[in-house]
Amino acid sequence: MQTLPKIEELDVKNRRVLVRVDYNVPMQNGQVGDPTRIVKSAATILDLCQRGAKVILLSHLGRPDGKPNAEFSLRPLLPTISQALQNKPIAFVDDCIGQNVAAAIAALPAGGILLCENLRFHAGEEKNDAQFTAALAALGDCYVNDAFSAAHRAHASTAGLAQKLPSAMGRLLQAEIEALQNTLENPARPAWAIVGGAKISTKVEVLQNLLAKVDGLIIGGGMANTFLAAQGIAMGKSLVDTPSLPLALQILQTAKQTGKEILLPVDAVVASTLAAGVATQIVPVSAIPPEQMMLDIGPMSVIAIAKKLAVAKTVLWNGPLGVFETKPFDGGTVAVAQEIARLTGAGKILSVAGGGDTVAALEHAGVVEGMSYVSTAGGAFLEWLEGKELPGITALRRAA
Ligand code: AMP
Repeated sequence: MQTLPKIEELDVKNRRVLVRVDYNVPMQNGQVGDPTRIVKSAATILDLCQRGAKVILLSHLGRPDGKPNAEFSLRPLLPTISQALQNKPIAFVDDCIGQNVAAAIAALPAGGILLCENLRFHAGEEKNDAQFTAALAALGDCYVNDAFSAAHRAHASTAGLAQKLPSAMGRLLQAEIEALQNTLENPARPAWAIVGGAKISTKVEVLQNLLAKVDGLIIGGGMANTFLAAQGIAMGKSLVDTPSLPLALQILQTAKQTGKEILLPVDAVVASTLAAGVATQIVPVSAIPPEQMMLDIGPMSVIAIAKKLAVAKTVLWNGPLGVFETKPFDGGTVAVAQEIARLTGAGKILSVAGGGDTVAALEHAGVVEGMSYVSTAGGAFLEWLEGKELPGITALRRAA
């Protein structure tokens, strides 16, 4: 952490500051669907404006595959960005390198803000191409990376620029790193992780790394089905990640050998089809009927989880505990989310959650504000949970 420079350390007055934000936000009918990432970028940008910097915002949006494509233009984001920045005017330029951009920056007053067009309209961005990086670097005097959610990519704007210009991490990136360090590297103990979601195969490294760092793992969602099946429990028509059965056994064994606890569901909400409002039953996991599938954890499992959380000091959560998108299979996820928010509000635990579906599940439960920290990142959050060093952060460290 000491080697990661903060924005306070940069001299920005009257200087051109390239700020890598992550405005890869969901769009609906040409408008911003969820402004969270834009809102969370405001602290860094306002701080730089106040200190008299010329702020040049760089971002990607979607996958235009290295070519200009109006469908992925950042221009429609302007009203949302301005709103997030106290209604400040935001200039826009329809490229991110070249003479037009240089001219737009030259016209920018100290404290002004310019949004550049989608970085991924150039193939050099994702290739971390030296020429493209140099063209970006020529536009700025220093560089701030505030895009934690893009830090798992070694692209020109996330890794390349830090090698070229005096660099620092933005406030959002700093907050994300601190939250994850407090949860995983140096947690108050007992520290518990909750891992749910569909399949083990997509989260093998997450499970292995977490098991090494926390005191106990709570497993739910489709993932739990595979752990239960690995112990010889008949799971009926439930989703079971068959190729991962040996791996599930191995993880259970490692936990035993290292004195870590793994908590699996004891009861299940089952149904014969996955549809809203279908007839359901609650059964012990040992009695799942052959024609039914487990689509959520049951109430006894929620109680068992709450007992563990009651003595925990740190809780990290990734992945829903059931098919929360379809009622009534959201019950387990909502109950656990609300319990975490209650314990967090009472000052009993530090709670950190992240990863695409997890945030949607917390929104569904109405408790996003109730967590100590909710990450804006999907892939980068998971790679951190896997114990990997993120290239965007490594680059800042080397530059320090
Ligand atoms: P992931 O992206 O791996 O976190 O998986 C999230 C998905 O897992 C969500 O869309 C859930 O609907 C799904 N999921 C959770 N529990 C189950 C379950 N018991 N059976 C099937 N899918 C599930």
